[in-house]
Amino acid sequence: MNKVAIVTGSSRGIGAATARLLAARGYSVCVNYRSGASQAEAVVSEITDQGGSALACQADVSQEHDVIALFDATEKALGPVTALVNNVGVLFTQSRLVDMDVERFNRVMTTNTTSCFLCCREAMRRMPDGGAIVNVSSLAARTGSPFEYVDYAASKAAMDALTRGLSVEAAERNIRINGVRPGFIHTDIHADGGEPGRVDRLTPSIPLKRGGQPEEVANAIAWLLSDEATYVTGTFLDVAGGR
Ligand code: NAP
Repeated sequence: MNKVAIVTGSSRGIGAATARLLAARGYSVCVNYRSGASQAEAVVSEITDQGGSALACQADVSQEHDVIALFDATEKALGPVTALVNNVGVLFTQSRLVDMDVERFNRVMTTNTTSCFLCCREAMRRMPDGGAIVNVSSLAARTGSPFEYVDYAASKAAMDALTRGLSVEAAERNIRINGVRPGFIHTDIHADGGEPGRVDRLTPSIPLKRGGQPEEVANAIAWLLSDEATYVTGTFLDVAGGR
């Protein structure tokens, strides 16, 4: 069976590192993005320059219609989807819960959790038996991210429950669903939260005394998708330097 992966939100950061690594391991990869077309095309060029196969595909994965179109386009260009990485995630300016408005809360839930639901559902409807899904959660699902992003933490905890429940439903078809929980990783997401230097500020609290690199999260994702993890489902791998 040809290995075909969709990596949502892979124009930059952890998603881009995952797309590159999966391509190097023989997957044809759909590089999904919402607005970063040139960045996504650059990831695709890197992959094809190395002899790999990839496609850039614009889709806002919080929207049902876009998710269906994303799977259609990937199947048409690359073949049946055998692996899915639900990597999209957003957060907004650090704030106490008491100061958050409902539009922000709903946007975080829709982008992070509804997108995961929609992509998992579409994968379950189309994926051949034996496929695999990795949901990119967060250390925040365990800590709750007080004073910063309780909304984001709640969206990730919901993804964890979805991962656990769906893993049991999917087991009868030998489709494995797992989660990774990154800790503090050097990407642009922290600037979106209002603090570009957040990883460096928090480094003293990390047992390994450094922030992580996107490639280190990609390694965990690729392992969970691989045939080295054929007896691993419904579980979570923290990639958080010991936090
Ligand atoms: P990032 O650098 O901000 O990248 C986010 C990616 O998601 C971009 O490619 C962005 O594309 C895409 N995206 C956002 N909304 C989208 C939508 N509605 N539809 C399609 N694509 C969308 O993020 P990151 O730091 O690599 O994080 C990746 C994942 O890891 C997220 O789920 C995040 O919550 C999780 N995580 C990260 C950290 C960390 O420290 N970095 C820690 C824990 C968990 P466009 O630019 O085109 O919108």
